[in-house]
Amino acid sequence: MKKAVFLDRDNTLIYDPGYIHEADKVRLLEGVGEGLKLLKDKGFLLIVVSNQSGIGRGYFTEREFWEVNQRLQELLKPFKVQIDDFFFCPHRPDEGCFCRKPNPYLLKEAARKWEVDLSSSYVIGDKDSDVELALKGGCKGGIKVGAPPFDNFLKAVFFILEVEGETLHEDKNEA
Ligand SMILES: [Mg+2]
Repeated sequence: MKKAVFLDRDNTLIYDPGYIHEADKVRLLEGVGEGLKLLKDKGFLLIVVSNQSGIGRGYFTEREFWEVNQRLQELLKPFKVQIDDFFFCPHRPDEGCFCRKPNPYLLKEAARKWEVDLSSSYVIGDKDSDVELALKGGCKGGIKVGAPPFDNFLKAVFFILEVEGETLHEDKNEA
């Protein structure tokens, strides 16, 4: 069985002023490229799980959602890392669907597709509902970024690596 880090996209990986859907406005948040590369090297699959109610609300199309994802992948190329897969809920909250986070449906779908052991996996997101998702999905941990102590994505990554037993020293690669 594999392990994964399930990632919220908006305001976790990329800056989101609200319902971001323009590929040319996509900006990686600080530490994201470096952090994702570290997780990948540690053997984690990187899987985005995202609520995109802007589609259900008619603010943008599914095609635009994928164009943003494509731009995200382009921006990650210099860091030599890519997102392995994207799962999303396109519904409005009032539609009462079963796939909207923090319901773990998409998490479980992703785990089945990629043969991921959820109890060895983590969630990183910018909302309490992302932490709730980790709990409901039976993950090893859920980490909320965007505020101390995880105000930088890299800090969340270091936390995971520490839990995984990685000793982190700044001079690790010297000598
Ligand atoms: Mg978010």
